[in-house]
Amino acid sequence: MTTTTLPATRATLGNYMSLICFQYLRVGTEDVAERAPVVAAGRQRGYDVIAGLGLLGAVSDGAAIRQLLDDTLGERGTRLCLVQAIHNLPDGAYRVHLTEGACTFGQVAAQPHCAFTLGVFIGALHGLTGTRMRGQETECCACGAEECIYVISPV
Ligand SMILES: [Zn+2]
Repeated sequence: MTTTTLPATRATLGNYMSLICFQYLRVGTEDVAERAPVVAAGRQRGYDVIAGLGLLGAVSDGAAIRQLLDDTLGERGTRLCLVQAIHNLPDGAYRVHLTEGACTFGQVAAQPHCAFTLGVFIGALHGLTGTRMRGQETECCACGAEECIYVISPV
């Protein structure tokens, strides 16, 4: 995907908008085209975040990744979510724990509901480790869990 980034021109509103608008875009896209495009957008975003930091292939330790991604995506970053923990699992996999994710804002679901946020972590871990990843959400705040938990593994 080729994107052109223009200078920030919203002098008054800056670069943030409401999560309500995000949910319309996300849920509306899934209604028409299922989850795949939303996950794909997240994957691209996560990979580009790491590329933008100059960290492609640079980090594999879960605790270091947690700190890096919480700084970048958390309260002091873009506010996608709070990254509570990232654990290294066998065979190059990771387990991600997060709260206050954008995907679950205002959402109640019977099945794990994160799509964009899950994609961001798949893409970011791909970028950081240099290994293509896939991901699955095992617990989700939209289903009443205290944290969203993703298991992200090499393809
Ligand atoms: Zn979730």
